[in-house]
Amino acid sequence: MKEAMIKTKILTALHIDEAVALLKNGEVVALPTETVYGLAADAKNVEAINKIFISKGRPSEHPLIVHIDTLDRVGEWTENISEDAKKLAKHFWPGPLTMIFTKKNSVSSLITGGLSTVAVRIPNHPIALEIIKKLGNGIVAPSANAHKKTSPTQAEHVLKTLDGKIAAIVDGGTCSIGIESTIIDMSKEVPVILRPGAITQEMIEKVLGIAIESPLKHNEKVSGNMEFHYQPEKPLYIMTRDHIEKLLPTEDALAIMHYSNLHQSKNITYYAMPTEKTLYAQALYATLHTIDSTDVKKIIVEKPPFLSEWSDINDRLIKASSKK
Ligand code: AMP
Ligand code: MG
Repeated sequence: MKEAMIKTKILTALHIDEAVALLKNGEVVALPTETVYGLAADAKNVEAINKIFISKGRPSEHPLIVHIDTLDRVGEWTENISEDAKKLAKHFWPGPLTMIFTKKNSVSSLITGGLSTVAVRIPNHPIALEIIKKLGNGIVAPSANAHKKTSPTQAEHVLKTLDGKIAAIVDGGTCSIGIESTIIDMSKEVPVILRPGAITQEMIEKVLGIAIESPLKHNEKVSGNMEFHYQPEKPLYIMTRDHIEKLLPTEDALAIMHYSNLHQSKNITYYAMPTEKTLYAQALYATLHTIDSTDVKKIIVEKPPFLSEWSDINDRLIKASSKK
């Protein structure tokens, strides 16, 4: 059945109460967080949560992250917070770290995709925090984009795929981090990073004083843990600088995202990316959205440094790239 289009309201920080009222009414609302825009529903309203899956076209077995506003509310979602998890929470919350815990019986399997674990974080954004606090139930919020597409870091990116499908968006400007949260599974004996993000393996190990795992590939049901994800409309290829330079004379209608100095060719559009990692992350999705709105045929991305600090960028670009 085709869903009916609705008028998506554009709200701002001045309309928090209206956003909260819509959420209380079982609607879904896109809102800013420090990572990317999230598509929020009341975490204790199953019908509202179902609307997230419908409007994103997201498969129902793909679990959602619960966003809360204070550490003492974790107990509503899990009975098993280890001392290590408390340390990480104290150190990194509010912030871009999602922790996976064994779920409480009362947590809906719609949130957990049928798993026995639940993902929780406290976002570091004044609008998100105020909305969560006023709603009082926690929100579930995957990225506010159609399933598998490039994540949104500005309100207009959200509207590209969700306008007419969601009740409202709260425009809070550009997301400061620009890449999804680090996900760490705290339900295992040794914590495992399931999705790299701004909080790196080294940062976590320093706080815990132990070595943790960060496998390149795993079978957990984590966002983006499928071959294709985060994909722009145009095919995207990752190439080394040498490879790009060799290609230049032969190719047309290209956009190149680079951070090295390149010999530039007239028929190509260049997007200079920051060489500093956190700035690169901030600019990544916005640049992909910008290029998507032009008429180039392909996106070439200069291979980022293969360093642990860049593992989130490498992870997202590899999944966004077109497989040969
Ligand atoms: P996104 O879909 O971009 O909002 O990212 C949220 C991701 O967190 C989901 O897609 C999940 O795959 C991941 N996640 C949520 N709950 C769990 C869980 N219990 N175990 C593993 N990953 C989870
Ligand atoms: Mg997503």
